[in-house]
Amino acid sequence: MKTIGLLGGMSWESSLLYYKIINEGVKAKLGGLHSAKIVMVSVDFEEIEILQHKDKWEKLGEILANEAQNIERAGAECLLICTNTMHKVAHWVESAIKIPLIHIADATAKALLQDGIQKVGLLGTAFTMEQDFYKSRLQEHGLEVVVPKKQDRELIHNVIYNELCLGECKATSKEAYLEIIEKLTKEGAEGVILGCTEIGMLVKQSDTKVKLYDTTTIHTQSAVEFACSAKE
Ligand code: GLU
Repeated sequence: MKTIGLLGGMSWESSLLYYKIINEGVKAKLGGLHSAKIVMVSVDFEEIEILQHKDKWEKLGEILANEAQNIERAGAECLLICTNTMHKVAHWVESAIKIPLIHIADATAKALLQDGIQKVGLLGTAFTMEQDFYKSRLQEHGLEVVVPKKQDRELIHNVIYNELCLGECKATSKEAYLEIIEKLTKEGAEGVILGCTEIGMLVKQSDTKVKLYDTTTIHTQSAVEFACSAKE
């Protein structure tokens, strides 16, 4: 089995899920007492969040690239950045290490294409929904991406930072998210990406008929496949 590298803490609420789902996946694949080989670095999210909102992406790239090198030195054979938003600096991280980076948007695009989806809705932080780094990566796979209207994007962003990253799941926020998901289907989305690793804590597939693509689940599944595949 290969060792998975996790760069987490953004937020730790979802990193907890990464650790759990990866171990469940390895157990399901290999049985018995098998569990995943993981090297993890978990950052202080307050420091990261301040830099994000000050637009200090180069500094953020430096911090994550440095931590990624620590993960590689500790023996990881691949790297996952456990957040969609921080893939904005994925190119800095990727160029600082020799092990492969499993990109969350590539893994998600693959899952969508396997289901024959062409037009998809995207929920995430304002950075993810409004900037180009994430949407363009999906578009490179031939997908058409729709995002919510400004007011809805603000609500989604605020719920992520003020509630979900603090471990709070409010019924009112869940209702609001479900309404926004419905609106995206009216604009032609055939499925909706939960493009923030905490959204799956609030909205579940059982809450809606719209096909949801939870990036936490998809990203962790890719890691399990990598870890359990034959060594070259
Ligand atoms: N975990 C979130 C994401 O997937 C938001 C936190 C962050 O800004 O990294 O985008």
